[in-house]
Amino acid sequence: MRAMVLRRPGPAASQPLHLEEVPSPVPGPTEVLVRVDKCGVCRTDLHVVEGDLPPVRDAVIPGHEIVGTVERVGAEVRSLAAGDRVGVPWLHRTCGRCEYCSTGRENLCEFKVFTGYSVNGGYAAEVLAEEGYVFHLPPGDASHWAPFLCAGIIGYRALKVALPRPGGRIGFFGFGGSAHLTMQLAARQGYATVAYSRDEAHLDLARRLGVVEAVLTDERTLAGRTPTLDAAVVFAPAGEVVVQALREAKKGATVALAAIHMSPIPSLDYDRWLFGERKLVSVEANTRADAREFLDLADRLHLESTVEVRPLAQANSALEDLRNDRIVGAAVLDCAGS
Ligand SMILES: [Zn+2]
Ligand SMILES: [Zn+2]
Repeated sequence: MRAMVLRRPGPAASQPLHLEEVPSPVPGPTEVLVRVDKCGVCRTDLHVVEGDLPPVRDAVIPGHEIVGTVERVGAEVRSLAAGDRVGVPWLHRTCGRCEYCSTGRENLCEFKVFTGYSVNGGYAAEVLAEEGYVFHLPPGDASHWAPFLCAGIIGYRALKVALPRPGGRIGFFGFGGSAHLTMQLAARQGYATVAYSRDEAHLDLARRLGVVEAVLTDERTLAGRTPTLDAAVVFAPAGEVVVQALREAKKGATVALAAIHMSPIPSLDYDRWLFGERKLVSVEANTRADAREFLDLADRLHLESTVEVRPLAQANSALEDLRNDRIVGAAVLDCAGS
């Protein structure tokens, strides 16, 4: 099968992914083989490809927003069958036994395995997944569903963590793949949503999706603003944005950081930006319950994804465009026929 393989991390601009012909994987007893239709391009892929997340194996195929069809199932698989339409997310497997798994917090599992990082992912024609960590998807365009499988789920978890008072005002910092989905969910649940971005094209998308305010985050615009947010979610992997969010946060607000990697956070003015029971909390991955709840909500509330579809072979340029804020909404790779 064809796959985009990472052998040595490097800047996306140096084209570190190579299109290769690799053997088709064979499912073990509890695994399924999924023929990949579309695979979303998540910011975490960029961190894997560029080495912000250190390599954990010699070579890896990235990609963990996978929409496809079950092709073969292992001998012990009961809940999935060939022909099922499924989504394969970031969480590939957890241990089920550690302190975190046994207390309903498998997102913090000490031994968790990730799709497209610890095991091969969906920038390929086929991928292996574990039964129990694969989700049935409703019918509809595969590229529509791809960004829901990580950008959407992590945004949902971040929203649960930030949890503003009912009807409160919630800000989204970094208006890309996650924010454009999470914002719709928050708006449908009665929250007033505010988008923050350094890019006008991203703010245009936010306005089309119905935010009550869209704020360009240059220093001039932010200086002198009065804090208005009851909660905030930071998707941008940039420490200075954490400070921007805290400056916009009212007393008692929670600022949730939904980035798997973040550049250093500048020193904080405790008296001005943290005192007043403001809370700063990170969000790590998600549980399978989060994923099920979100995919169900996304279907029932008809959340819309804005996607740009590229051929699998153009994964490097899609990642480079993501890095340079040139993707409005989410990028999705077309892996069918690879
Ligand atoms: Zn565990
Ligand atoms: Zn992701």
